[in-house]
Amino acid sequence: MRWKKTPRKRDPHICPVCGTRVEKPVKTWQLVAPMPDRYGRITITIMGVFECPNCGHRWRAVISKIKTGGGEVEVETAKGRKKLGAGKPKAPPKREGQIIEIDLDELDEEEEE
Ligand SMILES: [Zn+2]
Repeated sequence: MRWKKTPRKRDPHICPVCGTRVEKPVKTWQLVAPMPDRYGRITITIMGVFECPNCGHRWRAVISKIKTGGGEVEVETAKGRKKLGAGKPKAPPKREGQIIEIDLDELDEEEEE
């Protein structure tokens, strides 16, 4: 089986030698960037060692990247980016969403009667 090397986009779970997909890494560890990025966030890189059950090849790959700081956490994996957490760090926590939900419930009840 021919394997075309595409270092940036390749799935970290796929054996670079034979193309077998390995679900779980043998070992994982985190690399924390010594410097924050331009948004003041620290990037934590999750690295893994995989061992191919088919051909025995071992390789290291980046499993995901987590950017944390400034009130939010961004997780970057092979599947894409995902933002977690507050989103807007400078805004004080508000409960507006819950108040709106209560208002809508009350409106619905009035319509039914
Ligand atoms: Zn393999």
